[in-house]
Amino acid sequence: MGIADKLMRIKEKLPENVKLVAVSKTKPAEFILEAYNCGHRCFGENRPQELKQKYEQLPTDIEWHFIGHLQTNKIKYIAPFVALIHSVDSFNLLTEINKEAAKCNRVIDCLLQFYIAREETKFGFNTGQAAQMLSSDSFKLLKNIRVTGVMGMATYTDDDKIVSAEFEYLNKVFKYLKNNFFANSDYFNEISMGMSGDYKLAIEQGSTIVRIGSSIFGNR
Ligand SMILES: *Cc1c(COP(=O)(O)O)cnc(C)c1O
Repeated sequence: MGIADKLMRIKEKLPENVKLVAVSKTKPAEFILEAYNCGHRCFGENRPQELKQKYEQLPTDIEWHFIGHLQTNKIKYIAPFVALIHSVDSFNLLTEINKEAAKCNRVIDCLLQFYIAREETKFGFNTGQAAQMLSSDSFKLLKNIRVTGVMGMATYTDDDKIVSAEFEYLNKVFKYLKNNFFANSDYFNEISMGMSGDYKLAIEQGSTIVRIGSSIFGNR
């Protein structure tokens, strides 16, 4: 099966309110064009320079999402055009994104990445840290970013119960933050969770954005 067929098969089974980010990291521009030519417009990358290169090579109506760990000195590569940064894991990073966004006269949408897995290596906030940041005056001064939701990655395991419980937990974190910090805003709506191996479980637990790479483009 080709890329277009795999993409369409996944897409047609997604609920209407769930957005698909086709994760094209490490894959060549031709692969992205194949998905583009069957109507898909939303792609995810995890390396700033690679993303910039692809942005320059490919059609301008693509919506580019950044999904990887972002170093502050590399924000400049993506700030002019990125649609959503999924992986904000510190207040310092958010402050630096705000600076680069201001230089481009933009407001950049961001998700707060939460640490939900059992693995040590995953980046992210815990609920207390996020609550502290969101209630601080210095957060309220950031006018060139907008926090539109949360993101998380589940433990890499075959045990569906563990994965489902982690996604359920992220949904609870989302609701807590929405009720306590975003009750009067209409933009805090996104829960980015679910990859090739676990997106069905994520959707059951309320995901609004799934990030799917290898099931569309093949193994990396
Ligand atoms: C690579 C990656 C994905 C996609 O993973 P697949 O298993 O290939 O679907 C999703 N989210 C993040 C943060 C990633 O780095």
